[in-house]
Amino acid sequence: MTTPIKPDVKPPAPPVVRTVKYARKQYWNEPTMTWWEKAYLPEVLRGLAITTGIFLRNMGKWITGRRGAVTTYYPEEKRADFAPANRGKHILTQRPDGSPQCIACNMCATVCPAKVIEIESAFDINDPAHPKSPIRFEIDYSRCVFCGLCVEACPEDAIRMEQDIPNLVSGDRYNMWLTMDEMLTWNPKQDVLKPYPPKPVALKVSDSIMRGRESSTH
Ligand code: SF4
Ligand code: SF4
Repeated sequence: MTTPIKPDVKPPAPPVVRTVKYARKQYWNEPTMTWWEKAYLPEVLRGLAITTGIFLRNMGKWITGRRGAVTTYYPEEKRADFAPANRGKHILTQRPDGSPQCIACNMCATVCPAKVIEIESAFDINDPAHPKSPIRFEIDYSRCVFCGLCVEACPEDAIRMEQDIPNLVSGDRYNMWLTMDEMLTWNPKQDVLKPYPPKPVALKVSDSIMRGRESSTH
């Protein structure tokens, strides 16, 4: 009996396992720790000592009739010393006739990371300059993170944020929706930083034809 001849097939080579050495990311401003800091516990104790020192110092001031650090008992008390760049309550800017400057483009609602802006728009064929406008513009303050991205994204300067914070105290989260009426408080006639631009002078028909020709040649 003859044994069958096996074809000369080599077994597949075992997969090469390469060990990639993990390279720890180095931040440009990474501090260099001393052995004392690396020991961890001394730094924890140092932090506790700083906190206790500040606590005792403030307590000593208040006990001896001097003014120590102040805790604001919100909502009974409200601070008035907000930083100039504090991002507080949203306001919707208005045109001189009181209508919202917003064109309901939805850019703010799209960019909002918390998805808390809801806009319902209407169309007005009698206003060719602003055919689209909001009829409902609401922000859910129970979820807004006050990042200001909506203000950055607006192409019309139609939404801003005041320094002062909104009145957020409520036992019902549905009361924390800010409506369009509550936000339409910016008065362009009183804002010295952004006075409303003067009305453009109406062009003569011949001027507008010439401008059209100029722009079509570019
Ligand atoms: S401040 Fe930020 S979270 Fe709040 S509505 Fe604007 S984009 Fe959304
Ligand atoms: S507030 Fe500005 S970004 Fe938001 S819908 Fe109105 S125009 Fe668009």
